[in-house]
Amino acid sequence: MSENETRPDSSNCQHCSGAGMTTVYHELYQGNMIVETPRGREPGTLAAYCICPLGMWMFGRTRLEDRPRLTQLFDVLRGRTRYRVERPDFPPIDKQKLDEFWARMKRGIPIGESIPREKTTTPDDVARALRERNKP
Ligand SMILES: [Zn+2]
Repeated sequence: MSENETRPDSSNCQHCSGAGMTTVYHELYQGNMIVETPRGREPGTLAAYCICPLGMWMFGRTRLEDRPRLTQLFDVLRGRTRYRVERPDFPPIDKQKLDEFWARMKRGIPIGESIPREKTTTPDDVARALRERNKP
């Protein structure tokens, strides 16, 4: 049986988008390949085997003797390593800014131009509409 026939499809995986592996970041990562720690020099990033079917399948094909030095996303997510899924050198995502960005993208408004307010219905609008409808 060929590899493609047994290889699980994880293309909708939120962690690896179907690669089976994902990058994780040292808790002291500041954009460099090597992080200086009190214990010595450690890699800034690592490739971790994903928790999805493809990641598990790929990990299952590694040699037993190699596994102790391989990183699994499962252990990262459980906080069992010094590595994280989020980049420590990036500020946390600002939900309001992200929503504004998508509003711009959807309506094709360039950055720097103000977004026109959506027309909202106020209680006064409703009262006015009712008065119009009930006019003799
Ligand atoms: Zn995955």
